[in-house]
Amino acid sequence: MHIQAITLFPEMFRSITDYGVTGRALKQGLWRFDSINPRQFADNKLGYIDDRPFGGGPGMIMMAEPLDAAIRAAQAKQAGKVVYLSPQGAPLTHRKVQQLAASGSLILLCGRYEGVDERLLQQSVDEEICIGDFVVSGGELPAMMLMDAVLRLVPGVLGDMASAEQDSFADGLLDCPHYTRPVEFQGMAVPAVLRSGNHGLIAAWRLEQALRRTLARRPDLLAARDLTPEESRLLHKIRQEERDIPS
Ligand code: SAM
Repeated sequence: MHIQAITLFPEMFRSITDYGVTGRALKQGLWRFDSINPRQFADNKLGYIDDRPFGGGPGMIMMAEPLDAAIRAAQAKQAGKVVYLSPQGAPLTHRKVQQLAASGSLILLCGRYEGVDERLLQQSVDEEICIGDFVVSGGELPAMMLMDAVLRLVPGVLGDMASAEQDSFADGLLDCPHYTRPVEFQGMAVPAVLRSGNHGLIAAWRLEQALRRTLARRPDLLAARDLTPEESRLLHKIRQEERDIPS
C-alpha cells in the first residue's frame, strides 16, 4: 500500500508513521508513505497557498493552482485515487475502508482554513470522505484516521489478521464484550462460559452478546443485515426476554 498526503503539516503524520502497529509495519516495508507540501508549488516567495474568498466572509480558501500541482506531483510518483477529507464527503464506513485498502494507492488531500477552491475539487479529486458529522480544523487527523483503518486491513500489519476480522463492523455487527485477568474485579466475575474451555459454547455466547449489543446500540446495522437462521433465532430469543422484563 502506498499512501501520499498533500498537507501543510507533514510532521503531524509522524504519529502514524512512527508509532504503534502502523509505525512497525512501515519499518517492515508493508506500506510506504510520502508527504507533499503544497507550499513548494506557491507562486510567491512567502509560500502563500491561500487567499480571501470571493463574495466575502470569514477565513481563507486554499488555492486551486498549488494543490493541483501537488496532486500532479503525487500522481507522477505513484498513480492513485485522490481523496479529499471533507465534512461534506461520504461517511467513512468499514465497507469504504475495504474498498480503499483494495485500491493499493491513495493520495489524501488535507484541507485547512475554510476549505479548498471548489474548482480544484471538481477537476482533480475522485472522492470526498467525511469522518463524522462534526468539523475539525484540518484534514490531517481525518486522513490519519482513514490511514489507520485502511492499514489494519493490509496483510501483515496486524500481528493476527483474525483480530481485524472480529472487530466491530467487520461482519456487520458490533464486537462482543471482552475480559481478561483478574477473574473477579470489584465484585464482578468474568462470565463462567468464557472460562469453560468449551469453544463451541464460547462462540455461541459471543455471537449472542454481539447481537445483544448491536440491537441495543446500533439497531440500524441489524436492519441492513441478512440474518442467518441462528442469528434470527437468537434475536427472537433476546427480544422475547426483553418483552418479559417487567417495566
Ligand atoms: N468550511 C468547511 C465546511 O464547513 O465544510 C470546513 C473546513 S475545516 C475547518 C478545514 C478542513 O478540515 C477541511 O477542508 C477538511 O479537509 C478537514 N475536515 C474538517 N472536518 C472534517 C470531517 N468531519 N471529515 C473530514 N475532513 C474534515
